[in-house]
Amino acid sequence: MCVPWRTAHGLWSEREGLIVRLEDGQGGVGYGEIAPIPWFGTETMAEAEAICAGFGPKVADEVLDAVPAKFGCVRFALAMARSPLAPTSSTIRLPVAALLPAGRDALKVLARSLESGFLAFKWKVGVGDPADERGLFDDLLGRMPEHAKLRLDANGAWDRRQAIRWLELCAGRPVEFVEQPVAALDQDTLLGLARDYPVKLALDESVVSLAEARRWQALGWPGIFVIKPALAGPMAECIEWILETRADVVFSSAIETALGRSHILHAACSQWLTKRALGFGAGGNFGDPRWDGPVLGPLVDQRAIGINPGEAIWNALS
Ligand code: MG
Repeated sequence: MCVPWRTAHGLWSEREGLIVRLEDGQGGVGYGEIAPIPWFGTETMAEAEAICAGFGPKVADEVLDAVPAKFGCVRFALAMARSPLAPTSSTIRLPVAALLPAGRDALKVLARSLESGFLAFKWKVGVGDPADERGLFDDLLGRMPEHAKLRLDANGAWDRRQAIRWLELCAGRPVEFVEQPVAALDQDTLLGLARDYPVKLALDESVVSLAEARRWQALGWPGIFVIKPALAGPMAECIEWILETRADVVFSSAIETALGRSHILHAACSQWLTKRALGFGAGGNFGDPRWDGPVLGPLVDQRAIGINPGEAIWNALS
């Protein structure tokens, strides 16, 4: 990546992944992307490589279907390679949330993003000194127009006491939601905070797979689910879950290339699955237009995404 990512998990500077190419017997070709984030709870690169190597030069559909559910990234890629994008007549346009970096640089990026027309913003917190961050929070809100909304993402960095302090601060402010305020497995605290404070909470690290999202639903989670489809499994399963349960979701990037991104955004704009801004506001990670794809503006629809960048990416690798 051209610029390392700074989150409460630490610095992340290299995005490793696999591009999958599947040919059917009739000359049809499909591409998919495996983009694991092991420290987020997915399979590792070594596991993904071993699964693909195990397929050999020829593989039957039943073998591809039999990849276990816990390998969500591999399953996402295989499903994608087997169902290439086709243009639809959907005219759905969804807003995109611009990502603000941790620390004072957030103010600069906010100013630039407002000029480009963005109205939804996500800011990483739980990274710097808490008092500085609270000051910066006021500065950010002070510079946002009235109809703009801010999302905070703590990546599970706060303890209960810190989270309470922030949630009290957020009450009555234009905060759309607070994402993963405490650790992914701290179920009681998450449910308690969601019940006790008016600001909406979102789960991200807690719901890497759809199975986990379903489990939180069964517990009565009243908030939002941040879903990174590239980690969660086949896009069709994700869509089915949303339509079946009417879950309140935010689709979010796992820093995949233009290939995985086009598949996700194409699906997200194909029917009403969410009205919330897409968490794909951090483009340009690879410094190469073939990998990054078109720069996303404050609103996207299917035309803005680009279709089937698979061949270009495959050729760039070969
Ligand atoms: Mg997050």
